[in-house]
Amino acid sequence: MRVTEIFYSIQGESSHVGRPCVFVRLTGCNLRCRWCDSVYTFTGGEKVAIDDVIKRVKAYGCNLVEITGGEPLAQAEAFPLIARLLDDGFEVLIETSGSIDITPVDRRAKLILDIKCPGSGEVAKNRWENLDDLRPHDELKFVIADRADYEWARDLIAERRLDRELELKPLAEWMLADRVPARLQTQLHKHIRGADVHGV
Ligand code: SF4
Repeated sequence: MRVTEIFYSIQGESSHVGRPCVFVRLTGCNLRCRWCDSVYTFTGGEKVAIDDVIKRVKAYGCNLVEITGGEPLAQAEAFPLIARLLDDGFEVLIETSGSIDITPVDRRAKLILDIKCPGSGEVAKNRWENLDDLRPHDELKFVIADRADYEWARDLIAERRLDRELELKPLAEWMLADRVPARLQTQLHKHIRGADVHGV
């Protein structure tokens, strides 16, 4: 696979912000966002075997890894890399533009889906079906260039109910199917007293 860089730093985005993290930045991107700050990832890079990527990640002694780019899912080898890191016990984050089908991703990984607003010039590349395949641990990201982007994102969140609380039944089914070592919990006090009651 082609790798632009592997480095160890502090996570600067998402709900994982502030956590030490190993970053694997893969080469290449199928988009050309107007404000892209990663143009250097479009070409070049170093050809590295998956085994060697994993060895280099392990050398940092950090359990959190982010696979990023460029567009990391544009390389077919990204999928086995993600699965193998998960098998080795790593917590894996994937920063993706959401323009590529996420269904082949090992879903133990946590996706940070970067929805492209109109200001990026790439709004037509959003693969909307991806929104239907998100898991509770996944996150959405919007880069807002201007007021128009803000209003577009606000309306999308409302229309698609992207801020909705997950239904418990599908969540329970996903957990059972994946045999995740986790506990399903809901806000019991809200079920008893109602969502708008305070002081409970
Ligand atoms: S998806 Fe990311 S790497 Fe690709 S052009 Fe857009 S900002 Fe740059």
